[in-house]
Amino acid sequence: MVYKITQLPASKHITRSLQGLRGHLQYECLMCGSRLVSNKQHGQTGQQTTQSLCEYCYEDLPLNIYCCQRCALPMPANIALCGNCQKELPTFDQALAPLRYEGAAKHWIRRIKHQADIATIQTSVDLLCDAISNQHHQPHQSQPSPVDAIVPVPMYWRKNLKRGNNQAHLLANAVATRLQLNFHPNLIVQTREKPEQKGLSRHERQNLKGVFAIRNPVKAKHIALVDDVITTGSTMNTLAAICKAAGAKEVSAWALTRTPKPR
Ligand SMILES: [Zn+2]
Ligand SMILES: [Zn+2]
Repeated sequence: MVYKITQLPASKHITRSLQGLRGHLQYECLMCGSRLVSNKQHGQTGQQTTQSLCEYCYEDLPLNIYCCQRCALPMPANIALCGNCQKELPTFDQALAPLRYEGAAKHWIRRIKHQADIATIQTSVDLLCDAISNQHHQPHQSQPSPVDAIVPVPMYWRKNLKRGNNQAHLLANAVATRLQLNFHPNLIVQTREKPEQKGLSRHERQNLKGVFAIRNPVKAKHIALVDDVITTGSTMNTLAAICKAAGAKEVSAWALTRTPKPR
């Protein structure tokens, strides 16, 4: 059916108005506020992605290029496994984190935690999805099986209430939407406050036992756990063990950033 402009249904009028308005909007870099030519760019994989950063701020992001192939720990050179993974492999099967948690990436994570506007979340998802796509193009790595469920790393209810924003949930939801995967926000719950992990030895970090609980038996074969930062990896490791005990065959740990080993 061909509509004259006056005969358009209300929803079509609104869509056209928004399209017209979008053409007049000016886009600004989320980090420095400089004007962007458009809000589209081509990511590393050639796909069109949302541009919310100017080229200078984008180049300022500390990309996690050299990292452990198992736990994504930033490395000084192209070495397959970090010292920890050489000693004992983590329970999760692979990890990815496109950024090192330092410099501009720390500002970015603060923004996700406290502002969490759509542009920030979408740009974060662009970075994550680029890294996921690149993972499938690494000839020397074993290829992960397709993911069937996306689960955010849970946040304790009291912390969530205090902050009013759950960045892992927002990121995981947006990634699931982008990749058209099942999103299971309530599969795992945090039942009590998490003890501090920084500065503890690997053995001492076993103290996360009983902090998380899984609600249902897992039907998904491959679960991807999503968080904003992987710090020591002990939370991801604990959650991966819970998922596998409940029936998952494979667990991936996806985060936007990975904390480098303290020097
Ligand atoms: Zn900028
Ligand atoms: Zn490692």
